[in-house]
Amino acid sequence: MEQTLSIIKPDAVRKQLVGKIISRFEENGLRIAAIKKLHLSKEEAGEFYAIHKDRPFFKDLVDFMVSGPVVVMILEGSDAIAKNRELMGSTNPKEAQAGTIRADFADSIDENAVHGSDSKDNAAIEISFFFARREIF
Ligand code: ATP
Ligand code: MG
Repeated sequence: MEQTLSIIKPDAVRKQLVGKIISRFEENGLRIAAIKKLHLSKEEAGEFYAIHKDRPFFKDLVDFMVSGPVVVMILEGSDAIAKNRELMGSTNPKEAQAGTIRADFADSIDENAVHGSDSKDNAAIEISFFFARREIF
């Protein structure tokens, strides 16, 4: 069993897509091991995406991530990291495969509905960024 961190981003929360997106995970063998809704501060969003701090899109990315509340989850299942990335689709929704979350629910590369950890190491870092032991089931 593997765990990964998923975020339903502010655009998808605003569009009331939380239930539809969670259904994609549950219907595809990923279990919700932890979940909460929160509003990131600029500091938190900047720290979370620190790997991109020198990229030209960093400021827009942080501004977007703090533009409203998000839903963060730990998804658990076999190959959860890759499975989640597959269900999400490509970063740019216009390039995302039909039937993926980003193809179906996202409008642009800036507002692309979901985040998913991209490696085992990052999954562990991101899970501990958001969740305490007693919040994980
Ligand atoms: P995420 O980390 O949010 O799951 P990702 O792993 O598919 O997305 P990353 O390369 O980690 O993509 O980029 C993080 C976020 O930065 C993307 O979700 C996107 O919103 C934004 N981003 C990435 N590349 C670009 C780009 N070329 N132009 C504008 N925004 C971008
Ligand atoms: Mg990423």
